[in-house]
Amino acid sequence: MALNPEETVKGILNGDRKALAKALTAVENDSAGSGRIMDLIEPHEGGAFIIGITGPPGAGKSTFTGRLAARLRGLGKKVGVIAVDPSSPFSGGAILGDRIRMRSHALDSGVFVRSMGSRGALGGLSLKTSKAAKLMDAFGMDCVIIETVGVGQSEVEIASAADMVAVVLAPGFGDEIQALKAGILEIADMFVVNKSDCPGAEKLALELSRETAEADAPSAVLKCSSLNDEGFDEIMAEIVSQKAMLQESGELAKRRSLRRSRELAEMIEDEIRKMAAERIEAAGGLSGILEKAGSVRSAAALAMEAIRETPEQQ
Ligand code: GDP
Repeated sequence: MALNPEETVKGILNGDRKALAKALTAVENDSAGSGRIMDLIEPHEGGAFIIGITGPPGAGKSTFTGRLAARLRGLGKKVGVIAVDPSSPFSGGAILGDRIRMRSHALDSGVFVRSMGSRGALGGLSLKTSKAAKLMDAFGMDCVIIETVGVGQSEVEIASAADMVAVVLAPGFGDEIQALKAGILEIADMFVVNKSDCPGAEKLALELSRETAEADAPSAVLKCSSLNDEGFDEIMAEIVSQKAMLQESGELAKRRSLRRSRELAEMIEDEIRKMAAERIEAAGGLSGILEKAGSVRSAAALAMEAIRETPEQQ
C-alpha cells in the first residue's frame, strides 16, 4: 500500500502509533515518501533529549534500557526506544527484537519501542537512526533512547546520533572491555557498571574511574544492578544534571549543530553514491566497463568518466 506522507505526518503529530510505525518502516527501508516525511517532520522536532546507550553484548543494555524507561515513565516522561540490532543478513533479527524486548512496557501508551536492523546499513545506520529519533521526537516523546551493540564502528555512530552517551559495561567482560575502552573514552558521558550484584563490579568501577581520570575524560562512572533495580536514583540524577550542564554550557546546541552538519554530509554522500551507481549501470555496469577497459585501473578511469558526465551530455 502506498504511503501518503502528508497523512502519515498528520497522524504522527496527532499521536497515532500506527502512523509512527509506518513512518519508521519507510525510513528504515528508504522507501518512496520517506524523504517527504522527514521534510514535513523537521519543523516539529527539537524537544526530545536523545540518550545513546552502547556496550558489549551481554552487559545488560536491554535490561538497563528497560529500567531507565520505567524510571522516566515514573516521572511522567514519554519514552521512545530505538534498539539497533546487529541482525545477520539472513534473519529478520530486528523483527524478533521488537517482540521480545521490553514486554513490560507493551501496554503503556507512553512508550514506543522499535528495533532497527543494522544489516546492509553500512554507514547509513546513524542517519537512519537519527531519522527514527526525529520521528519519535515529533510524535511527542520527551526522551528517546537509542540502544546499540558496541562492536566496532557503532559506538562512534551512535555518539553522532545522541545528545548524551552512556556506555554500559559489566564485570566478567575482561578482554572485550579492554578492546572497547580505546575508542569509547572520548564519547562516553557516563560509564554504567551494570551487574553490581556480581563480583568484580567495584573493581571495574574503580578501574574505569582511574582510566577516565588519567585520560582527563570527564565521564561519570556509576554502578547499578538492572536485574535488582538498584542504583537508578543516582543514574537518573546524573542524567538530569548532565542534561542541565549540556544545555547551560551550550554543548548541547553544539552537538546538535554538529549532528545536522554530519546528517547533511551523509545525505549528500548517499545521493552521490546512488547517482554514481546509476551512471555506472547506464555505462554497462561494473563487469561491462571492466570488459571494455581490460584492466581494473583503466576501468576505474572509464567509470569515473561515466560518473562525471552530466545527463545532458549522455
Ligand atoms: P545486552 O545484550 O547488553 O542487551 O544484555 P541483556 O540486557 O540482554 O542482559 C544479558 C544478561 O544479563 C541477561 O541474562 C540479563 O538477565 C542479565 N543481566 C542484566 N542486568 C543484570 C544485572 O544487573 N545483574 C545480573 N546479575 N544480571 C543481569
